[in-house]
Amino acid sequence: LYLDHPLAQGQTVQLPAAQAHYLSGVMRLPAGTVLSVFDGRSGEFDATILQANKRGGELEIGELTRPFQPPPDLWLAFAPIKKARTDFIVEKAVEMGAARILPVLTEFTNSERVRVDRLQAHAVEAAEQCGGTFVPEVAEPVKLAKLLDGWPGGRRLMFCDERLVGETGELPDLPGPWAVLVGPEGGFSQAERTRLRKLDGAHPVSLGPRILRADTAAVAALTLWQHRLGD
Ligand code: SAM
Repeated sequence: LYLDHPLAQGQTVQLPAAQAHYLSGVMRLPAGTVLSVFDGRSGEFDATILQANKRGGELEIGELTRPFQPPPDLWLAFAPIKKARTDFIVEKAVEMGAARILPVLTEFTNSERVRVDRLQAHAVEAAEQCGGTFVPEVAEPVKLAKLLDGWPGGRRLMFCDERLVGETGELPDLPGPWAVLVGPEGGFSQAERTRLRKLDGAHPVSLGPRILRADTAAVAALTLWQHRLGD
């Protein structure tokens, strides 16, 4: 269970109504039950339910059972697509160990309004499900041009491009912080491709000869990066 509160052994933590209701009303866990909790920055702890009902509850934080494990410094930047597929991308990015998730608005991005609070809640659920001790931040959507104008020097960009001609498109084995960029279903415009290629530290990378859906491409790109450069 994720608690939005810095945790330490011996503390008593108040549970918000929604989480207390989940434990008591949905999971039907009685007082005295021991659970695993994490706060995204201090590791995972045992915690005992002191009391919980639909209005609120209390947990007593026990021993640290797993130390905090920050993910590698990898961002996933992606153009939001349909709601369910965007949720899928966020969920898989958390499972694949992305440290930051950035929705990026490109020329051909064609999606409903991006609800960052909803995506952040999906990131929390995914971290709970995969046993992570870290929850990546989902950033506010940003236009691609603005993102590139303020691109942090030294961060490499794995720019996933299905239209590489006469290039190997291999992910170079270079150290340093990285970001993966995946385009929308309509792909990147020619102007965006040109701009991306001019970015210092950008590496156009192929994910194979077939055109992958954007959600598949995000998972494939993160897998490739983790395989070559991750830990
Ligand atoms: N509209 C494009 C087209 O038909 O040519 C396809 C875009 S694809 C569905 C969505 C995104 O996934 C692309 O912008 C790219 O970032 C990524 N992608 C898909 N297949 C890829 C591949 N084989 N290599 C690299 N990137 C790929």
